[in-house]
Amino acid sequence: MITRFAPSPTGPLHLGHAYSAILAHDMARAAGGQFLLRIEDIDRQRSKPEWEAQIYNDLRWLGLSWDGPVMRQSERLPAYSAALETLWARGLLYICTCTRRDIAEALSAPQEGADPPSGPDGPIYPGTCYGQDRLGLTFSLRSDHARPREATLRLDMAFAAGSACEHHVAEGGSRWAIQFEETCHSKATGWNAITREQLVSDVGDVVLARRDMGTSYHLSVVLDDAAQGVTHVTRGADLFEATAIHVTLQKLLELPTPTYCHHRLIRDRDGKRLAKRDDARALAKYRAEGASPADIRRMVGL
Ligand code: GLU
Ligand code: ZN
Repeated sequence: MITRFAPSPTGPLHLGHAYSAILAHDMARAAGGQFLLRIEDIDRQRSKPEWEAQIYNDLRWLGLSWDGPVMRQSERLPAYSAALETLWARGLLYICTCTRRDIAEALSAPQEGADPPSGPDGPIYPGTCYGQDRLGLTFSLRSDHARPREATLRLDMAFAAGSACEHHVAEGGSRWAIQFEETCHSKATGWNAITREQLVSDVGDVVLARRDMGTSYHLSVVLDDAAQGVTHVTRGADLFEATAIHVTLQKLLELPTPTYCHHRLIRDRDGKRLAKRDDARALAKYRAEGASPADIRRMVGL
């Protein structure tokens, strides 16, 4: 068993992070496996060395030791670029030049008043740039052209789902779907299947390369979990929906699909999710107030 903790160094670690890290750590230790650490620092604007240093410090204080060298996403850009090249060459990506506002306007036009459908990454992309992008490339010509650098690239989900989905014979008929095993989520424990139609309607053409980053959270997390040999992904339930994107990418790139544990979110007294900007709940704050690592474990319900 190989588990991991993958924080972004964009703020202090909170109780929710501590819960994720402790679960992943204890799971690996109990199984005689490995617990790995990865710093998700592709957002160069928001990542700070001070926060990274604080992560190491907080984890050590919690008594969590990690195995092997720390992986840092900022050192993995060539791997992300190579995967984009593969997907581009297969015609699975297209250039998008829309602003957030363009997307909001395109979505509000037809059904005034009704909320536009939303997926793991916010509103489902209306497909404005599909078919003919900025370079005037139609679908069949896309991959004949070199992959543009510094462009926003979206996954053509209709095409991607067609090649990622496998045929499953299930009760009540058969279907084309992707599947993953969930071990923690209170409402989704067991095998979860997302059909080809659901991938198109409920996930849509997600961004895989951001113009300013040359990658995206989704692409990086999939490549890195595979590169680190992670067998069990432990993270908050807020990322459950995004798993459909991750499994699709694993299939397209012929990477193994780990087992997932999407744990409950740690909420504050008002029931709100702990936001990173809300420094009041930082681990460091509890520590400064005299809490012990055992107190932290108790506070997150362990
Ligand atoms: N870096 C992400 C975060 O800080 C975690 C991503 C993951 O565990 O897949 O929320
Ligand atoms: Zn667009």
